[in-house]
Amino acid sequence: MAETDAAFAGALRNVVVRYPGRPPLGPLDLAVAPGEILALVGASGAGKSTILRLLAGLESPSEGAVAGGAGRGRTGFVFQSATLMPWADIQANVALPLDLAGVPREEARRQAAAQLAAVGLGDRLTARPRQLSGGMAMRASLARAMVTEPDLLLLDEPFAALDSITRRRLIEDLHRLWTGRSPRPAMVFVTHDIEEAVYLAHRAVVLDSGTGRVAASLSLPGPLPRPDNWRGNEAYRSTVERLAAELARSMTASAGSNA
Ligand code: ATP
Repeated sequence: MAETDAAFAGALRNVVVRYPGRPPLGPLDLAVAPGEILALVGASGAGKSTILRLLAGLESPSEGAVAGGAGRGRTGFVFQSATLMPWADIQANVALPLDLAGVPREEARRQAAAQLAAVGLGDRLTARPRQLSGGMAMRASLARAMVTEPDLLLLDEPFAALDSITRRRLIEDLHRLWTGRSPRPAMVFVTHDIEEAVYLAHRAVVLDSGTGRVAASLSLPGPLPRPDNWRGNEAYRSTVERLAAELARSMTASAGSNA
């Protein structure tokens, strides 16, 4: 690995991915700094999930290189569905990655309980997944991803199936988990929700829907976690509009080039 890669929690260098029956995705350059929260937006099929799979080491690029990510530190993955084992209680679900890593059972259970307490589920350790609301199940899923103390957390539309109030609460939870860790983990968060992207991240990257390349990268204003009533802030509102315009452009440009 090049020396400069130490500056990144994960990076794609000149990456091209070829799937049968569609134009190649890329070339793509994208680097996530340690502790950075990056929101990834783009039209359906632009390549957002592919980027997460590359960073997780679940897939190899056809060309180019993937640095950091699964190749270096620990990487956690959170999906849209909570994917909890229905037959096991919540504590056992969250302890699973530690069990698989060979952590002694009692220690794994202790760490799982502490992580569940951090997401407000400290009193639900013995509950089964079917006894939890959608928001609680996603909190348990976040706890399971955080219990291994990842350097890079990859989140693929994790809150998309939840109502807007629950989504907002979960973003605050995510920020709290992020500030509670030292050093803070980097996160790459895929979302179709522009307001969510501008609220939760330091930076938003827009993928071009035709080529899968980076169409725009916007620095997002304000401190993280957000101050109270941040959604009413003028800088926040105007950045939402800018990101919406960039996203629309990323779709129109490729519609034009495909015509
Ligand atoms: P969505 O927002 O709908 O989840 P996305 O931006 O995450 O989409 P990807 O799932 O990364 O997009 O897919 C990018 C493109 O690559 C799509 O055209 C998809 O059909 C194609 N693709 C992804 N994985 C494969 C695969 N294993 N084999 C063939 N084509 C694939």
